[in-house]
Amino acid sequence: MTPEEEKRHIHYMKEAIKQARKAYALGEVPIGCVIVHGEKVIGRGYNRRNTDKNTLSHAEITAIRRASRKLGDWRLEDCTLYVTLEPCQMCSGAIVQARIPETVIGCMNPKAGCAGSLLNVLEDPRFNHQVHVIRGVMEQECSDMLKQFFKELRVRVREERKQRRAAAEEKNGQEKRQHGD
Ligand SMILES: [Zn+2]
Repeated sequence: MTPEEEKRHIHYMKEAIKQARKAYALGEVPIGCVIVHGEKVIGRGYNRRNTDKNTLSHAEITAIRRASRKLGDWRLEDCTLYVTLEPCQMCSGAIVQARIPETVIGCMNPKAGCAGSLLNVLEDPRFNHQVHVIRGVMEQECSDMLKQFFKELRVRVREERKQRRAAAEEKNGQEKRQHGD
């Protein structure tokens, strides 16, 4: 990677991180994506799976849908897709289907990623299209954002559990008092 290329990748990964922050604000796992054509962002997306109650609401799928609408073509040739987390099997499949030539990934997802972790859908020579993949652009930022999210989520879940337990004990106590125990 030349220094100019690296600068460009960092610039657009920051745009993808901005999208991920929108997911974060909704309480969604913070994953963001942008698709760049020439020097223009033609599609943006962030994870809205819980908000939309839709498994298709992944950042990459939304960005692909918008970019295709913009170009008026399902083929996203000459485009680069930037995503903060390694794509899942569905999104990796969509990237190949859309003929996207290049994908830049922030951090990897060893438990579910399909761009080199569990599977490598993007670079499988058996498909009729292979994607050039660049990994680890702003890796620390992307990974810290996810870690922070899950840390807060664990605290929230623990808090909710505690409150539920307290409410149940309160109710129990009241019932006992009513029965004169
Ligand atoms: Zn996905």
